[in-house]
Amino acid sequence: MSNGVVTASLSASDVRAGHAEYLFPCVAPYYREPLVLVEAQGVRVVDAEGREYLDLFAGILTTSVGHCHPEVVARVRDQVGRLGHTSTMYMTEPQVGVARRLAELAPGELKRTFFTNSGSEAIETAIMLAMQYTGRSEVIALRRAYSGRTLLNVNITAHSGWRPLPSAVGAVKHALAPYPYRCPFKTPCDDECVEAFARDLVELIETTTTGRPAALIVEPIQGVGGFIVPPAGYLRRAAEIIRSYGGLFIADEVQTGFGRTGGHWWGIDHDAVVPDIMTMAKGIANGFPVGATITTDEIAAGWRAKTVSTYGGNPISMVAAAATLDVMVQENTPERAEERGAQLRRALDALAREHDWIGEVRGKGLMQALELVEDPVTKEPSPRLALAFLEATREEGLLVGTGGLHGNVIRIGPSLLITKAEVDEAAEKLRRACERVARQR
Ligand code: PMP
Repeated sequence: MSNGVVTASLSASDVRAGHAEYLFPCVAPYYREPLVLVEAQGVRVVDAEGREYLDLFAGILTTSVGHCHPEVVARVRDQVGRLGHTSTMYMTEPQVGVARRLAELAPGELKRTFFTNSGSEAIETAIMLAMQYTGRSEVIALRRAYSGRTLLNVNITAHSGWRPLPSAVGAVKHALAPYPYRCPFKTPCDDECVEAFARDLVELIETTTTGRPAALIVEPIQGVGGFIVPPAGYLRRAAEIIRSYGGLFIADEVQTGFGRTGGHWWGIDHDAVVPDIMTMAKGIANGFPVGATITTDEIAAGWRAKTVSTYGGNPISMVAAAATLDVMVQENTPERAEERGAQLRRALDALAREHDWIGEVRGKGLMQALELVEDPVTKEPSPRLALAFLEATREEGLLVGTGGLHGNVIRIGPSLLITKAEVDEAAEKLRRACERVARQR
């Protein structure tokens, strides 16, 4: 495989040594011996030692149409030599084109977009907008949420491990997150539990806020939390509740957007809810740094202070997003994710039948997870087995991710264009990796 990339002159061990010496120690890569990647194409990546891997994690669900998709590469190459930067003080056709496309794809009246450079910024924008529009400052999130690494976002994020500091920004309160595998109410987690979670949300608002919240922010499927899928109907109830208190409903589609969950463009569509504000990043531009916050005419007008994002809407990023979105529409990513997701799911379910340390297989479309446990009865989380799984898949030439509060969830989220044959190949590699893990158990 060659993309015409000039291979780096440092050896893999030089890169590892340089990383260890010059980057913040918190920039923690996967694997006992971290991978140094040099090339990629589609679902294949190549490391500095020339080993090829089938990539089921896609740079954290980001290379949505595959690494170095030719359409994206060609349009970015052209743009970078034509007009590389403008700032938001000037207009460009690519920025307007992407905004128009997002208005077409987004549900309901969501129409106006503000562009930034990351998911974190997209959420900051959404929350600051909700606060200005409502004139309120309290925010509700769900436990096990992940929303990024800015000061506001580490306060929304509800995983102690991802919070470097005690709560430091305004008032963010966390309601119980529906987590069917570990439902605090009963198993199976059903409509009655949806009502119990809804009562918790109401009680949280009534007891820990002024009763006048600005917004509720939810991930339709919690990503970093471990692909936790709420029971059907919960998100609709949650939207009704926050609106009944005069707050806005924000859907964070950073991981779930663009067909990822199969059958729909947005994760929130599975519960037929139209959010007031939606945030996007990751898959929107196939790896180029783009965050986007979309809302209605009326809510967008609520931002009254001056604001600028120097790089937000940058023409190179916008051309990358435009090309990615064109490919996603042409290829019908919601349908592809549904079909390939079902194929992948059958393979994962078969693995879970063979290995009782796979406590649960869950997810939607091409967003599938395995929760690993020490014991299927006690459901004790097993970060140990997740690390063994990560190393075993690497040995088999396969990249997956981890997640979950305890790091015991294996996350799979490949390119939305992964083919049937590639899913079969991945299934076989996963099967062999599971055998390796079982031997070490
Ligand atoms: N929201 C969700 C659901 C995410 O998964 C992430 C990143 N993992 C973010 C927001 C933050 O995005 P970024 O890392 O681009 O700031």
